[in-house]
Amino acid sequence: MVRVRFAPSPTGYLHVGGARTALFNYLFARKMGGKFILRIEDTDIERSEKVFEEQLISALKWLGLDWDEGPDIGGDYGPYRQSERTELYHKYAQELVKQGKAYEVYAYPEEIEAMREQLLAEGKPPHYTREMLEPYNTEERKREYEEKGLRPAIYFSMPRKDYIINDVVKGEVVFKAGSVGDFALLRSNGMPTYNYACVIDDGLMKITHVLRGDDHLSNTVKQVALYEAFGWDTPVFGHVSMILGPDGSKLSKRHGATSVEEFKSRGYLPESLVNFLALLGWSHPEGKEILTKQELVESFSLERLVKNPAIFNPEKLRWMNSEHIRMKPVREIVLLAKEFMSKDIDESYLEKIIPAVKDRIEELSQLPELTEFFFKRPENLPEKTPEAHETYENLLNELKNIENWNKESIYAAFKNVMKGAKLKGKDFYMTLRLVLTGKHEGPELIDILEILGKEEVLARIEQFLS
Ligand code: GLU
Repeated sequence: MVRVRFAPSPTGYLHVGGARTALFNYLFARKMGGKFILRIEDTDIERSEKVFEEQLISALKWLGLDWDEGPDIGGDYGPYRQSERTELYHKYAQELVKQGKAYEVYAYPEEIEAMREQLLAEGKPPHYTREMLEPYNTEERKREYEEKGLRPAIYFSMPRKDYIINDVVKGEVVFKAGSVGDFALLRSNGMPTYNYACVIDDGLMKITHVLRGDDHLSNTVKQVALYEAFGWDTPVFGHVSMILGPDGSKLSKRHGATSVEEFKSRGYLPESLVNFLALLGWSHPEGKEILTKQELVESFSLERLVKNPAIFNPEKLRWMNSEHIRMKPVREIVLLAKEFMSKDIDESYLEKIIPAVKDRIEELSQLPELTEFFFKRPENLPEKTPEAHETYENLLNELKNIENWNKESIYAAFKNVMKGAKLKGKDFYMTLRLVLTGKHEGPELIDILEILGKEEVLARIEQFLS
């Protein structure tokens, strides 16, 4: 059975790169009838924070990427938080030490750093070997460690041989013998390193496919070596290219919003973000662009993940959001809109307004501005020429006579006024729009009149005439 995971470090908000990784894993699991697992990689104690974990979880839930096993719901392979798995990391490291595949190191971190600098100064790659590290393991040093309550670091003896990885996205990736030196599994503070914890967890959690960003590609050789050392099956790897900003550089804050939370607060629907992210590095077999989550699940396949880096185009996201908003029933948009509008807005009034503005919304946060004139009389009125005065006085009288305020009766009033009017049709309508809304564009004029209601329309025309 397919088992995939999303393994964020709780050191910040969920950004679009992470969300896309989560999404690809989710889609693959759902398509294959497999399991999607959430694992929190919080071994970097200085940078990890509980609030970030909570934020990650709520952002994933908001996106609708539900998981089958995770720190909040448990599962058969828990715990799902790395900080709760330290015993396991120690146990398996000891096993490698026993087999001679890993070894203790009593060198202080500064000494290891100095060694690295020395190698670099000599123009050599900073690769450690057992011969370099073990001489620090003197009896005296061991005593010192004991007195200070320190534990030796554990280093993995990296086999110096070629490794070939068949990556489902990148194809065959070759790591030449000696391209990586020995590396730490456990640090002297007892915490595991990323590469090591990742293998222990993926191995014990029976992960079958590892789909992640290609910034981790160079780590994969270390991970494969560890799977081999334990005699475990290596999962299938798929490294997706980074997301780039419109200018071709790596997507960052410079390019504007990058976290899921920011998009949420600007009024993007989770459906839109999911749709957009899925197409950053994957494409639909028939080139379809607007897709629901269900359609994505049905059409997803690893074969269609692309090698080239994906470009994040905020304009496209806005367009997708407007398309997904249009697809929603009015009632749902009303409920969403309330989040972005003043609290005391009358819901039944909003239900009339939304159909008129629905097609113009790109971000729900535009709603207060798009709908402002429904709640507030315009301040900037158009110029009042003698012709305009006469025409709108006629209009006022025609409208006053309407008993049943609806589109037909309003149209009929327009027609009567236009018959003898000195204003051209275009001017008549544009001026009326300005009189009622203060804006040059907006929803259909007839909708505006109908929604504002007779009393308010008359009041606004009177305001213009006075
Ligand atoms: N915690 C790592 C990260 O957030 C996970 C990488 C992986 O998927 O192996 O980048």
